[in-house]
Amino acid sequence: MARILGAVCRKCRREGMKLFLKGIRCNTERCAFSRRQTPPGMHGAQSKRSKMTDYGIHLREKQKVKNFYGVLEKQFRKYFDLAERASGNTGTNLMSILETRLDNIVYRLGFGASRAQSRQLISHGHILVNNVRVNIASYLVRPGDVVSLKNRKNIIDLVKATIQEAVQQVPEFLVRTEDDIPQGVVLRKPVQEDVSIIVQPQLIVELCSK
Ligand code: SF4
Repeated sequence: MARILGAVCRKCRREGMKLFLKGIRCNTERCAFSRRQTPPGMHGAQSKRSKMTDYGIHLREKQKVKNFYGVLEKQFRKYFDLAERASGNTGTNLMSILETRLDNIVYRLGFGASRAQSRQLISHGHILVNNVRVNIASYLVRPGDVVSLKNRKNIIDLVKATIQEAVQQVPEFLVRTEDDIPQGVVLRKPVQEDVSIIVQPQLIVELCSK
């Protein structure tokens, strides 16, 4: 599984916003972006975001979304093609597809403290979709799918502790139950209001359509 490597806090400083890539730390005073909001690099403090070219503005919007969801270029292009082929607004379709990735669903249910930790839960085989183990983070869930955990005490305890510490609310397109084994149900397809990042998808569409 290809994944984004490197110092993730730099990505928040580059995009000029919190991308919540480090789990609990992102909501504490140890957040690097809260302490220093200038772009990374030797000349970061002198660089002027306002002087960005039109292309730069479009590119940053795409990079922001890719970094937020932890998606690499090749996969992102696949999602864009899917969004373009589906009926309706391409930008809205794209964000909806990204929201239905299994790693995002596991994160938004509060099972993982970050998308990266959620990806790890999935790749280690701890996540079930409709009672079948799914170890592919990019798996796209559908309305009616039930996302649960393998019956392993240490993992259930870990996830329950993560749910307790979670700051974010479960979005309206999901519902979570916390019986013996926490589980979540996908109620419907996510819409623009369910997306947890402030983004202008039309800028991405304009860039990727060229
Ligand atoms: Fe971004 Fe989280 Fe690092 Fe803060 S702690 S800069 S939100 S990844």
